[in-house]
Amino acid sequence: MENKGFEGRTMEELKESHPLLSKIISTEEVFWTNPKYGNFKDSIKKVSLSERDVMDAEARLKRFAPYIVKVFPETQSTKGIIESPVIEIPNMQRALEKIYEEKIEGTLMLKCDSHLAISGSIKARGGIYEVLKHAEDLATEHNMLSLNDDYSILDSDKFKTFFSRYSIAVGSTGNLGLSIGIMSAKLGFKVYVHMSADAKKWKKDLLRSKGVIVIEYESDYSKAVEEGRKQSESDPNMHFIDDENSTNLFLGYAVAAYRLEKQLKEKNITIDDTHPLFVYLPCGVGGGPGGVAFGLKLIFKDNVHCFFAEPTHSPCMLIGMMTELHDKVCVQDFGIDNITAADGLAVGRASGFVGKTLEDLLSGCYTIEDRNLYILLSQLSDTEKIYLEPSALAGVPGAVKLFKDSLGQRYIKNCNLENDMKNATHIAWATGGSMVPKDIMEEYYQKGLGS
Ligand SMILES: *Cc1c(COP(=O)(O)O)cnc(C)c1O
Repeated sequence: MENKGFEGRTMEELKESHPLLSKIISTEEVFWTNPKYGNFKDSIKKVSLSERDVMDAEARLKRFAPYIVKVFPETQSTKGIIESPVIEIPNMQRALEKIYEEKIEGTLMLKCDSHLAISGSIKARGGIYEVLKHAEDLATEHNMLSLNDDYSILDSDKFKTFFSRYSIAVGSTGNLGLSIGIMSAKLGFKVYVHMSADAKKWKKDLLRSKGVIVIEYESDYSKAVEEGRKQSESDPNMHFIDDENSTNLFLGYAVAAYRLEKQLKEKNITIDDTHPLFVYLPCGVGGGPGGVAFGLKLIFKDNVHCFFAEPTHSPCMLIGMMTELHDKVCVQDFGIDNITAADGLAVGRASGFVGKTLEDLLSGCYTIEDRNLYILLSQLSDTEKIYLEPSALAGVPGAVKLFKDSLGQRYIKNCNLENDMKNATHIAWATGGSMVPKDIMEEYYQKGLGS
């Protein structure tokens, strides 16, 4: 079957120019480094978003902190700022070295977005941020709120009645729906979450218990997004949260980088020319890891190296960036089924906006089999007593894969980091898990043991 859909190139031509593609198509684990990766100074010039935009998002989250702490008392310890700890995981580092028979030079850490307040995943950053931004826009346009107010006034019947005239819609495989749903319902919005077939039942049940309207589809995430978008087009009072193209979501995620910088300083961890930072981020549509990576590049510039991790059955960002076809292709075009146990990562078509924004800023991507996600899940439970959902494990073997793969070794060499890797900090971004019900977590754990 001849497919002429690849911008005038045939599948054979694509395979010839991208030797990894055949392996990707046969769903083998691969490690890819980005040949377009460039120095920060030149690469950032092509990006329309700037540090000012991220600072603006950070300031907005600060304005909302008095409201957040009032309606979500679990954020008391951070005074209404939704933030997660970053911790060393030395036992897991040793376990990885043993499993992969490869030494990890430097220190392995875990960024525990799995334990973010309110919705227990990285989506508590971008998703909640966009809802708050929308609420602020509406309330200020109607002269009900000014930027200097104490935002805890939002927790009142007056504001809830006001917001109930508006609705919010989103398409989601699960976690984004949780964040948007919980936050929107709390403010008083009517909220619709369009969910794909692979979304977990407990997530749908939880949302319904909060008064969220959940609409289910037989097909995958793209269909849920399409229907959500369609619904909002016919209603001027409905705001559609567009996971594939939203700069607000992206900026909400990017704020994480500034918080991380502070956390590393507090731990006396230096990042500079001879102390590189490597970050491994599970990637679905790309907004979460893309926003975080963008923020990190703004701060640490050439001293941070960001890699995305995807399931072998949903390598949409990898294919999009490698072929430079971005959102013009989906994994199904390559005969890949987009079926994975990694909820948030079951995405067939990557965000074109994110792929293009990070074209010269992302260091690389790698893929991981579902089976290995479960093995790592059990290992992390045993070694560190930390419980993550399967998707969140995708970033965990990044460091060991970097050292093990010949392209990874070449990357280190090209960056002149061979002698500095002993000083490296590796951060696996743990993107979700604390909301998973105990019995389901136990099932995951057993699956990893049995593999
Ligand atoms: C959504 C999600 C991701 C990836 O975020 P994208 O913005 O879709 O790329 C990773 N891990 C988990 C657990 C998620 O829910």
